[in-house]
This record gives sequence, C-alpha cells and structure tokens, in this order.
Amino acid sequence: MVEQNLRNAIRDIPDFPKPGIIFKDITPILKDPQLCEDIVDAFVDRIKHLKLDVIAGIESRGFLFGLMVANKLKIPFVPIRKQGKLPAKTVAESYKLEYGQATIEVHEDAFPQGSNVLIHDDLLATGGTVVAAAKLIEKLGGHVAGFSFLISLDFLKGEGRLHRFSENVYSLVR
Ligand code: 5GP
Repeated sequence: MVEQNLRNAIRDIPDFPKPGIIFKDITPILKDPQLCEDIVDAFVDRIKHLKLDVIAGIESRGFLFGLMVANKLKIPFVPIRKQGKLPAKTVAESYKLEYGQATIEVHEDAFPQGSNVLIHDDLLATGGTVVAAAKLIEKLGGHVAGFSFLISLDFLKGEGRLHRFSENVYSLVR
C-alpha cells in the first residue's frame, strides 16, 4: 500500500528547526523511485475527477510532487514562491507566522481567468500557507478546485480553514 510505504519513508527529526518541534523529513521518499511513482499515481487517482486546468505548487517541497502530478495529468504547473524570487510581474499575499509574517507570490499571468486550480504542498500544518495561496489564486480570477498534501498534521486543525475555498482536501498520510 502506497500510504503505508509513504508513512514508513517519512523520517521524524526532533528539535528541527528549533527545540520542541518534530520535523517530518520527506527527503527519504525522493530516494525511492518506485515510491515516487506510486505517490504520483495515488494523487492522480484522487484528483482526476476534478477537471483541473492547473496545479499550483508551494515553494519548495510543493514543487516536487506538484510538477510530477501535473506532468502525469498533462496540465500546466505553476510555482508559488516566497517574496522576491519570481522574475516577472507578480501578485502577493502575506500571512501570519508564529512569529512575524511571510509573503508568497505568483506570476500575474500564471493561468487564465476561471481556471480550475489544485493547490499542492508537501505538508499541511496550521493551513496558513495554503490559505494565502488560495487567496492568491482567487485574486487572479482562478477557482480553487482542491488541495493535496503528502502529509496532514491533523492535530493542528488546518484542514477546517481550507473548506471555505474547497471541500476537496486530499492527504495521503495523516
Ligand atoms: P502551515 O502554513 O500549514 O502551518 O505550514 C505548512 C508549511 O510549512 C508547508 O509549506 C510545509 O512545507 C512547511 N512545514 C511545516 N512543518 C513541516 C514539517 O514538519 N515537515 C515538512 N516537510 N514541512 C513542514
């Protein structure tokens, strides 16, 4: 089962990036090509009914499977990046972190108005990052068709914040 193999591949790193945090390290997954293929197929299976036009992936770990799944579905991939990284004209959205704030950006010509967009990231924690991404998509006239993650940390209750954009939230491991 892909979910079990994925679960086994995720590595817990205590006290990263600061004391008291247990970081879910996904890099071991990337060393296993069969697992990567199975993960892409599992995502495709869950989202193929959504009639997506675009997958938007969040820097940087959201680029990994976001691009692979978009390629498999033969639809465009759009990177959502941290402030100041994208070269052409962008729109931005800021959101609160535990301490301070962060800003993400997307190219303003990233997709046509009315596009059905799936937002993809490696992990859902509080939901702050993908809520900001969803606001960006809507600012550009896109429709948020759903969200996909390798991992959801359910105890942080991020998923509830996503439902105002879409009920379609797909996580392979919780
Ligand atoms: P949120 O905005 O939902 O609180 O945090 C999610 C973002 O932080 C994602 O972009 C994700 O990559 C990153 N993140 C937070 N904690 C972890 C973790 O334990 N492992 C990984 N791989 N990413 C994390």
